[in-house]
Amino acid sequence: MPSTVRIALNRPLRRLFDYLAPEGLALKPGQRVRVPFGYQQAVGLVVETDIEPPAGITLKPVQSAVENWPALPDETFQLLSWASDYYQHPLGECLFTALPAALRRGRSATEKSEDWWQAFGSSAVLPANAHKQKTLMDWIAQHKQGVKSSDIIKAGFTRPQLKALRDKELVRAITPAKESTQSHRCDETIGGPELSAAQTEAASKLPLPTSGFSASLLYGITGSGKTEIYLHYLKQNLSARDQALVLVPEINLTPQTVARFQRYFGERILVWHSALNDSERLHAWLKIRNGEPVILIGTRSAVLLPFTALKTLIVDEEHDSSYKQGEGFRYSGRDVAVYRAHLNRCPVILGSATPSLESYHNALAGKYQLIRLEERAGEAKPPAVSLLDIRSRPLEGGLSRPALQAIQQTLDDGNQALVFVNRRGFAPVMMCFDCGHMVECPRCDTRLTYHRRDRAMRCHHCDYQAPATETCPKCKSEAFKPVGQGTEQTEDILAASFPDTPVVRVDRDSTQRKGSIQSILKQVNSGKPCILVGTQMLAKGHDFPNVTLVIVINADGGLFSVDFRAPEQLVQTLLQVSGRAGRGAKSGKVVVQTCHSDHPLLKSLCHGRYLDMADQLLEERESGQLPPFRAMAIFRAEADTMEQSLQVLDRIKPLANAPGVETWGPLPALIARRADRHRAQLIVNTDNRRRLNKLLTGICQTLEQEKFPKSTKWMIDVDPQETG
Ligand code: ADP
Ligand code: ZN
Ligand code: ZN
Repeated sequence: MPSTVRIALNRPLRRLFDYLAPEGLALKPGQRVRVPFGYQQAVGLVVETDIEPPAGITLKPVQSAVENWPALPDETFQLLSWASDYYQHPLGECLFTALPAALRRGRSATEKSEDWWQAFGSSAVLPANAHKQKTLMDWIAQHKQGVKSSDIIKAGFTRPQLKALRDKELVRAITPAKESTQSHRCDETIGGPELSAAQTEAASKLPLPTSGFSASLLYGITGSGKTEIYLHYLKQNLSARDQALVLVPEINLTPQTVARFQRYFGERILVWHSALNDSERLHAWLKIRNGEPVILIGTRSAVLLPFTALKTLIVDEEHDSSYKQGEGFRYSGRDVAVYRAHLNRCPVILGSATPSLESYHNALAGKYQLIRLEERAGEAKPPAVSLLDIRSRPLEGGLSRPALQAIQQTLDDGNQALVFVNRRGFAPVMMCFDCGHMVECPRCDTRLTYHRRDRAMRCHHCDYQAPATETCPKCKSEAFKPVGQGTEQTEDILAASFPDTPVVRVDRDSTQRKGSIQSILKQVNSGKPCILVGTQMLAKGHDFPNVTLVIVINADGGLFSVDFRAPEQLVQTLLQVSGRAGRGAKSGKVVVQTCHSDHPLLKSLCHGRYLDMADQLLEERESGQLPPFRAMAIFRAEADTMEQSLQVLDRIKPLANAPGVETWGPLPALIARRADRHRAQLIVNTDNRRRLNKLLTGICQTLEQEKFPKSTKWMIDVDPQETG
């Protein structure tokens, strides 16, 4: 009698599929199989074996196993099953998230062995006109251990050039030096500074990798040397056989961090982020799955990888909202990391200068250990923060006279300044001063942003773009002008006011090209006077020792937002940006321009004590019955019309009617129309997480059976970051 197995497919379906397991084929949970599905073949993952076969149905047999070992080892499998339930996302899609694209499609879990090349002899024997071959020969000769052909192509050479050298026997194919665990020995690498007394004390409170599950919240002010603590901790405590995971919000913005880890751990460092190609992904995945003792530095999805010897998790900048996936499987990388540590019985360290209210609340409740580090490392002192009321001051490119003077002073002293603007582009809107017309996105309920560099009007909410016009499109008036501030405009004003100083813009537009952030950082790290102007991107973890002045163009955006998280995010961003000042031996100064200098939140910013502000914000959350005091989820719907969206949510509302559960809505979303889809939402808020989970499971099952108009889509977001 063949046994029955339950299989998950990579489909957005809240159900699993049963198949017969052919005799002689021993299957384990987490293993990849090929199964018939409709008229096609699909790759599936075994969820359960030896189940009771459903009565009265003839099952099809599994065709074959892709390999005889589980692609998802036990702990990873359990983690994803838990996450599927917690975030109410179909199990199949959750499990498949942990596989690189090639493996999802059923490709074999092996790497194509690559040809490696080494140089022999000298390029001097080449004819004088064979410039390209000469360059290639010299380039290969620089790599004493040999070099992969894919790297040769990446460096801009061609296969015919390589072949020409091979035919002349100037290069030979070699077997590469095996990347064995031997090369992971870290004693050949160099370290950084000794920990200070305060750092040593904080580090001593971190539980050892062998001491079972624990969660620690390392609250260390900006520049206090948290990264240095992670490095020392891993160096001292991680055994040579163990794996560790360091989650970071965005790797590309902070190549310095990876470089610092590499300095300590050399080859043992592996990176994981969205810019890897398919084969790089497979390479990293296999190392992790094979239990090689890597220290992985990765973004959000790295937490789902199939580690088999994971002994420490670190979540750097744990407050960062990019840990939460915004679409599809909407998990929080930080929270999944905590659960993973729990499953795996090892420590997790959450680090931040501005901890999320969730984590801080957990620390106050005794679930996490709170470790404080309230002095800066080395000689650096915390920056002095002051508010500058701009209510009746003339502004140029958003900058007041005192702000411009402060920049001048900073440059005169030979230092660097950083100007923080909330919006990229030239100006948030173009307005006609005759008829009042403002150009809106034809597909969204938003206005278009004016980008002067490429003379375009762009929507920041969809991909709509149109050429900018000189006159009002409605009344043809010439009094058609930009209103408000964007990075480009501030950059122009700064360039005009300080003609002898380089002005460097850092935003999504200026960093799109590969390597551009590196060249920007190089310029800043040269230490020569310059002015950095940019968005949020500048707030993230950078270490600029010569920046001594930070100007915040306008702090008021988050003060009066409808989103309950806005004040928290405002404070975090302002403190993180401020934290870029005075990180070296020179002291720093922060000037925050505002129209609300008497606002209590901004006033407490000047004292710079984040936890005091967090206490204040938590009080507001508690009295508003909001997370982290309550558990929240949002149902979102989108459709071709608003009626259809609201209809779906009207159907859900009564289903959520239960004791201890509040629902708010359904209401149109803040941007009700986006890319021509009409969006609405229903918030579910309760005092009990377990109850919320049960309720949502029931609702999702009901909804799955319903027939809604074809264009409507509904989704569920548990622990939403955005509630607008
Ligand atoms: P954080 O991660 O808390 O922002 P970093 O670890 O990046 O802080 O440290 C900030 C700066 O201080 C870095 O330039 C780092 O090299 C330096 N630093 C950290 N610890 C020490 C130390 N013990 N002695 C001297 N300099 C240090
Ligand atoms: Zn007009
Ligand atoms: Zn749009």
